[in-house]
Amino acid sequence: MRSVVKIINPYNAGFFGNVLQLGSNENPYEPSENVKKAYLKSLEKINRYPDAQYNELKEKIAEYIKCSKENIAIGCGASELINRVCDCFLEELDEVLIPMPSYSLYLLYSMLRNARLLTPEFESYEISEKIAEFKPNLTFICTPNNPTGNFVKKEIVEILAERSKYLVLDEAYAEFSEKTNVNLALEKDNVIVLRSFSKFFGLAGLRIGYAVASKELVEAIEKIRLPFAVSQPALSCAIAALEDLEYYRKISKKIVAERERLKNELSFLGKIYPSEANFLLIKTDKIKALDLLKKGIAVRELPSLPGLRGYHLRITVGKKEENDLLIKVISELSNFSTN
Ligand SMILES: *Cc1c(COP(=O)(O)O)cnc(C)c1O
Repeated sequence: MRSVVKIINPYNAGFFGNVLQLGSNENPYEPSENVKKAYLKSLEKINRYPDAQYNELKEKIAEYIKCSKENIAIGCGASELINRVCDCFLEELDEVLIPMPSYSLYLLYSMLRNARLLTPEFESYEISEKIAEFKPNLTFICTPNNPTGNFVKKEIVEILAERSKYLVLDEAYAEFSEKTNVNLALEKDNVIVLRSFSKFFGLAGLRIGYAVASKELVEAIEKIRLPFAVSQPALSCAIAALEDLEYYRKISKKIVAERERLKNELSFLGKIYPSEANFLLIKTDKIKALDLLKKGIAVRELPSLPGLRGYHLRITVGKKEENDLLIKVISELSNFSTN
């Protein structure tokens, strides 16, 4: 066994029991009716391999992003594309810049390439101009960032695009912020934007995501993929979801409004960071994830994430009635603990 494999900790996927799931940043709403129909219709074709080039979905995404389909690579979730980007662009001992705290998969797949990790931390988790001291082969930035929720400033992204041989901007939550860097990825030949269908489009169970980059980078990322990895039902549902933008924009607005309500209602817990995503990061000494789990609500604590100082909960925004329950349970628990 490779020594790097021995020292890697398994990915902490949170708790998946029969509980209210507010731990994985999923979309709480059902898919649109058209997506459900597309799923059922795709079953008629599952004796066949899917289109090897995923052409129809690439065309739909290109229309959505306003680019050419040669600028789009498809993967089994953005997670799989993180792995593929590392395989494409990292040589042994290359430097990978991953400002922390951020998404732990960047560390995992960089380590598997035997790359050298640079993991600077910043005041209040906001990347500053000091980042310009690095000159890495590859940089991973998550924006809005998981777990802090903040969108990384344009000036910082531009510095990193200059300083890094390759820059990956993980925009898994971009639609909740209504901001994006896709134009940068289309202008620069070293910038890759990753997107997911798991969050805004609520297809986490189907495993589908994409990358936006120059034709040359997309060609590289596509060349090394497992053939036919994305299933026909996933392709069909992603296409249908892109045809139902109005539905998804409507539920996204509800989620964003609920996020702000939750932020107000839970402010007594401690420090809540400004979020442009569908979750809140809360620094608190009043309540633990396990207390909530005992009451049937799963939220995420991030005890071993490098760069996060103190005890934090990451809570996904649910539907109104789910958030009401969360607020009620947290209020009861914290009254109990202060008496
Ligand atoms: C959820 C998430 C992803 C991707 O998820 P997939 O389900 O693999 O598309 C990627 N990056 C971040 C930061 C995420 O939070």
